[in-house]
Amino acid sequence: MADGFEARLRAVSLRVTRPRLAVLAALRDHPHVDTDAVISLVRADLPTVSHQAVYDVLRVLTDAGLVRRIQPRGATARYETRVGDNHHHVVCRSCGAIADVACAVGHAPCLTASDDHGFVVDEAEVVYWGTCPDCSEGN
Ligand SMILES: [Zn+2]
Ligand SMILES: [Zn+2]
Repeated sequence: MADGFEARLRAVSLRVTRPRLAVLAALRDHPHVDTDAVISLVRADLPTVSHQAVYDVLRVLTDAGLVRRIQPRGATARYETRVGDNHHHVVCRSCGAIADVACAVGHAPCLTASDDHGFVVDEAEVVYWGTCPDCSEGN
């Protein structure tokens, strides 16, 4: 039993495997880490797991909607298990630190397009950029 991860995997018709559970647990404990960090976290638990296995697990979990992939401009892709709440991110321009920001409105899309060109808009991708407390102290 790992915090309902087994049930979440089954709910999307995915087999429960140790690498999948390990990746979900790593992302729950360390949100917004990149692939390399996920690999080292998973290897602390499953030393023999290959890079390719972790890449595959991340792709399958992202496709299934159990993991959210975010990629701030100029950064490597990051992953998290907080999905489905349309939350946004604040990113430090200086060190790349990322924190969660609750959706400004509470549902997607939380920005109304000034002209939707006839599209049915269901999401607005919002990233807040700035300087984190650690980086602004140094200046
Ligand atoms: Zn910073
Ligand atoms: Zn997040």
